[in-house]
Amino acid sequence: MAYSGSMLMVVAPSGAGKSSLVNALLKDDSSLMLSVSFTTRSPRPGEENGREYHFVSQEEFNRRKNDGDLLEWALVHSNYYGTSKSWLEAQVKEGRDVILEIDWQGAQQIKRLIPEAIWVFILPPSLGILEDRLRNRGQDDEETIQRRLNAANQEISHISESDYCIVNDDFDTALTQLRQITMASRLKTQNQLSRYSTLVHSFQANK
Ligand code: 5GP
Repeated sequence: MAYSGSMLMVVAPSGAGKSSLVNALLKDDSSLMLSVSFTTRSPRPGEENGREYHFVSQEEFNRRKNDGDLLEWALVHSNYYGTSKSWLEAQVKEGRDVILEIDWQGAQQIKRLIPEAIWVFILPPSLGILEDRLRNRGQDDEETIQRRLNAANQEISHISESDYCIVNDDFDTALTQLRQITMASRLKTQNQLSRYSTLVHSFQANK
């Protein structure tokens, strides 16, 4: 792939506030596109096909995987999730910046394929607060909460593979930090050289 748009992967255990941060970032940054993943899980109330996810059958997911249309894929909490390769390639080739909300397995796969992709880890401020946030959702039984806490441990054990880490204690502070990382990734020389190749060449031609 030839890149001019940047890729930002946001990874966090459930309860860290990842989706709220990403949604707030998208709201005031119109040049940032959200990668809508394919998933075999069923839609939750209020979710719309094509907005939160492309909800597909296991057969369709397998077909896309076998056709090579998934840049990465993973089994998360008994459901399959994957990122559309063709969509993502089209965006970054057009110079658009893309944000991906994925798990550590997906981020690890993408990092291997595309080392320039930026991996941001969102950390909850404490174990106690993470537990409170999971319990206060009021939609899960104790077994599910324990399963999510174990999954959180697993996710956090990969933190050192990420490029940036934000502790989501105060929402506004965390959002500002995410905006700053987005800006920094846009300004990486490799991305800027694709955007401003004519400008750079004009100086070289003038030697
Ligand atoms: P949920 O079903 O609660 O929306 O998401 C469950 C988990 O799957 C979250 O950690 C989310 O980041 C992750 N996820 C969502 N889309 C993708 C994807 O395309 N690839 C991977 N690897 N994980 C994903």
